[in-house]
Amino acid sequence: MVNEPSLSISELFYSIQGESTFAGLPCVFIRTAGCNLRCNYCDAAYTYEEAGREMPLAEILHYVERYPQALVEITGGEPLLQQNVSSLMTSLVARNRTVLLETNGSQSLESVPIEVHAIVDIKCPGSGMESSWLAANLQEVRNRAAARPNSTEIKFVLRDMQDYQFARSFVREQALYEVAPVLFSPVRDTLPLLLLAQAILGDELPVRLQLQLHTVIWPTVARGV
Ligand code: SF4
Repeated sequence: MVNEPSLSISELFYSIQGESTFAGLPCVFIRTAGCNLRCNYCDAAYTYEEAGREMPLAEILHYVERYPQALVEITGGEPLLQQNVSSLMTSLVARNRTVLLETNGSQSLESVPIEVHAIVDIKCPGSGMESSWLAANLQEVRNRAAARPNSTEIKFVLRDMQDYQFARSFVREQALYEVAPVLFSPVRDTLPLLLLAQAILGDELPVRLQLQLHTVIWPTVARGV
């Protein structure tokens, strides 16, 4: 008997996409369990502090099919730690779904189908995880952008202005905005939006200031939105 592929899942839910260039659209979220990092601002620690539920791929796809018009985002934790995420991505693409993948930047992007919109974190010093960035992913991001424009987005989560300066240098040195949309996402309650907006405008930096829209809509709800 062949074992059915499965994934360790933290939660499945339907909500508004809060981040990326797809922000505002209805979206089914597949949140995988487990993460190899420990960012000090993490708002999804339950993905590695609590045991995940092992779910067959077919059951996950069945849930997604309840919302045929919605985007599908695979997030975590860190989804690319699980080998069967490849099968999940391929299955969703084969069903003509618009698929987003949020990844923390520490895992290779090689297995991510080009049809999937990869949103790749570059961790700043304020996260405590700055050294987790997989340098080879920079070339992979360039390869993906060349193969399919808008297949990839790059995200910096900023805890303070030191993080802003780090991200600004990285973006300028690598001319990242010529490769992919660049998202600057402030950590809620630690970096004032106005300060960040003024800095971006003053530096004429072609990056996208993004809010976590779901935290504006549901400010007191910690999961499932
Ligand atoms: S990569 Fe994401 S899930 Fe993992 S510790 Fe950092 S913020 Fe939390």
